[in-house]
Amino acid sequence: MDDPIETLAYLVAQSRSMIAFTGAGISTPSGIPDFRSPHCGLWEGVDPLEVASIYGFRQNPEAFYGWVSPLARVILNAKPNPAHEALARLEQMGILKALITQNIDMLHGRAGNKTVHELHGHMREATCVSCFTVYAGEAIIERFLEDRVLPRCPKCGGVLKPNVILFGEQLPYRELQAAQEAARRTDLMLIVGSSLEVAPASDLPLIALRAGAKLIIVNYETTFVDPKAACVVHGNCAEVLPAVLERLEKTV
Ligand code: NAD
Repeated sequence: MDDPIETLAYLVAQSRSMIAFTGAGISTPSGIPDFRSPHCGLWEGVDPLEVASIYGFRQNPEAFYGWVSPLARVILNAKPNPAHEALARLEQMGILKALITQNIDMLHGRAGNKTVHELHGHMREATCVSCFTVYAGEAIIERFLEDRVLPRCPKCGGVLKPNVILFGEQLPYRELQAAQEAARRTDLMLIVGSSLEVAPASDLPLIALRAGAKLIIVNYETTFVDPKAACVVHGNCAEVLPAVLERLEKTV
């Protein structure tokens, strides 16, 4: 099969337990910059370990909020794009059994996916770093974007941290367990928009491979598992995934 869309559609149609694993690249067509593509600006002029680590946050939460503000503003206004919508449709069709994401932007849920494991957290909640009370996160971030006052816990005055996983923090245990289990059980993992450079999330394709699954990859750039994949498409996921879905809907 020479047509990569046809190959992808064939592999998806053959699968009985397909899962998807997504990264920041699936959300760039929604206007949310990824971290590693050149000129996105998010990491330019900052030391990630200073602003986006839990140690940095504890020492200088203002610097974290200042750095994350432009990203948070875009995320709160973003809408799912055709790649998110295709994955939601695949779940509705009973083909996609689970979705693991490294994204914090909540767009898979907004697109309609129900079984979503958010490995790196999300912005729906924020937690007090002193007393651990959990609050609704989006309103807290929106308020900060308006008044630029560091969000504090109404109960104890501790700083509120959005429930996103920073460098140096453990991944949420249940989400990681569920993702690893899904990777062990799947026969096909569709990887979309991830450089696969962030561990331990980047181990998931290896877990799937070791358990006998096939990998298919839709990403602009190469990744370290490309040589082991059944099919790799270097294209825009917001074009590739709807095209695969269209091909599948004609045949299923
Ligand atoms: P990454 O930035 O390391 O890699 C993104 C990959 O997607 C790149 O290889 C790029 O070539 C590719 N890409 C970009 N746009 C694409 C498109 N339209 N179609 C196909 N490929 C495309 O992202 P990562 O691997 O997810 O790791 C970054 C970390 O940063 C993650 O932990 C994630 O939590 C976080 N992050 C999240 C968001 C978000 O929630 N949307 C945004 C930025 C960063």
